Amino acid sequence: MSKRRATRVIHVGKVAIGGDSPIAVQSMTNTDTRDIERTVVQIKGLEAAGCDIVRVAVIDLEAAAAIAAIRAAIAIPLIADIHFDHRLAVAAMENGADGIRINPGNLGGAEKTARVVDAAKRHGVPIRVGVNSGSIEKDLLALHGYPSADNTEALVASALRNVQLLERHGFDAIKISVKAADVLTTISAYRRLSQRTDYPLHLGVTEAGGLIAGTVKSSVALGILLSEGIGDTLRISLTREPVEEVRVAFELLRALKIRERGPELISCPTCGRTRINLFALAEEVERFLQTMESPLKVAVMGCVVNGPGEAKHADIGVAGGNGVGIIFKRGEIWKKVNEDELLPVFLAELQNMEEERRGQGKSATKE
Ligand code: SF4
Repeated sequence: MSKRRATRVIHVGKVAIGGDSPIAVQSMTNTDTRDIERTVVQIKGLEAAGCDIVRVAVIDLEAAAAIAAIRAAIAIPLIADIHFDHRLAVAAMENGADGIRINPGNLGGAEKTARVVDAAKRHGVPIRVGVNSGSIEKDLLALHGYPSADNTEALVASALRNVQLLERHGFDAIKISVKAADVLTTISAYRRLSQRTDYPLHLGVTEAGGLIAGTVKSSVALGILLSEGIGDTLRISLTREPVEEVRVAFELLRALKIRERGPELISCPTCGRTRINLFALAEEVERFLQTMESPLKVAVMGCVVNGPGEAKHADIGVAGGNGVGIIFKRGEIWKKVNEDELLPVFLAELQNMEEERRGQGKSATKE
């Protein structure tokens, strides 16, 4: 892992982005923002999963007005995502948005940008300049050789041009994203951008796909960038419920030993030695772990021959035998249970361990 790149610090509500602040995890709701009740319910789910900042689409003035009620009902900072209409940006900030995401270049001119910047200054709200491979200006595409397969330079040039539009109005509470759907372009664009600016960077691969493709693409791109010390906040974009994005984000940060939240599941792929229904067991345990906060290592292994040994660093684990399960703690056998009782006994002990940790007042989240 390389040393983290030095960036300026901005604040999205109570969350600091950049400098040596924790890498913040973001997601975006997929409800109609005007439907306040459903949007709040979804954001509560994101909060429970550890999401640090949430973004909502603001498509009209009714959605901008809904921000006030949504903001009052949630605990994490809220960012308004706006395209084209500067009035929506101003209204969102007046209604309490903690941040906005815009491309100043598509607001319709310097005067309209000035109005947005004035409102941002007045409300102490930062702006993300969010450039996507699909939104690069035509002149920059032409200048940098479109239709070339590599839009790196056009993406970076577009981001910096949009940043300058804000700087011209004396504004610098900025973070930047240059998301491409292509993994290699995403990596090269962020690398290049990080050499040209010290504004904090919001990482992401746009339109990454469903759970498997999206997780792989995002993990490759963001994993490489984070390991090079690039990136201050991130969103994993998936064609799934937003809470899945947050889970994938924390697994990625955990794998890189950047940030840890909740328990870690270690499970074997099974092999010819497995004598219990391990897939079903692992699935149930994984579902239960999503309700826990303690940073425990939990193992679900197919056999007693190698299971406890392979998972000896686990706080608690289960290894399948012939019609039985052996529950072990830190590599030592704790209890032998019939297969039909294995799941309830194991989950009850997980619950005990969670409560013990809470009782001891141990920090549930390790940064
Ligand atoms: S833990 Fe046992 S069942 Fe699982 S893969 Fe290893 S040897 Fe096979």
